[in-house]
Amino acid sequence: MNILTLGSDLLRQKVEPVKNIDDELRAAAEEMIAALHIGKGVGLAGPQVGFMKRIFVVHVDGDVPRVFINPSITATSTETVKREEGCLSIPGIWADVVRARALQVQAWNEKGRPFTMELDDILARVILHEYDHLEGVLFIDRLSVPKRNRILAKMERQLQGRQGK
Ligand code: ZN
Repeated sequence: MNILTLGSDLLRQKVEPVKNIDDELRAAAEEMIAALHIGKGVGLAGPQVGFMKRIFVVHVDGDVPRVFINPSITATSTETVKREEGCLSIPGIWADVVRARALQVQAWNEKGRPFTMELDDILARVILHEYDHLEGVLFIDRLSVPKRNRILAKMERQLQGRQGK
């Protein structure tokens, strides 16, 4: 599974709910977890690998890999935190993003069982970041316009550098 990077139209689409939690979906989830591990990331959403369904996988240090299917964020804390964030689809770029400190998320797991979790800190941040991907939103969209423009200019230079070789 290749991870799509900034510039791909697929990263900008709002994706469809999963209809069936079946073997095909479980295989896709397994592949996404493998791609997440290869990329050494903490979260990966369907659209990042061109799988245009509402699914993401999360694996943070000290926890097991988790699959979130058709997730909804049912509550967020008013308290926010600012923390550095990156994205497997925007390699080499990190920036401070403000997000809710805690949340409640409802989803289905790969076995088709619904669950609700209350999470804070890193896990909450990763969930919000991945959820954004399902809406076609990237973390750089949450930065100030000048900051986002600087990042886009840097990405452009990296791209030209690669093409020049
Ligand atoms: Zn991302």
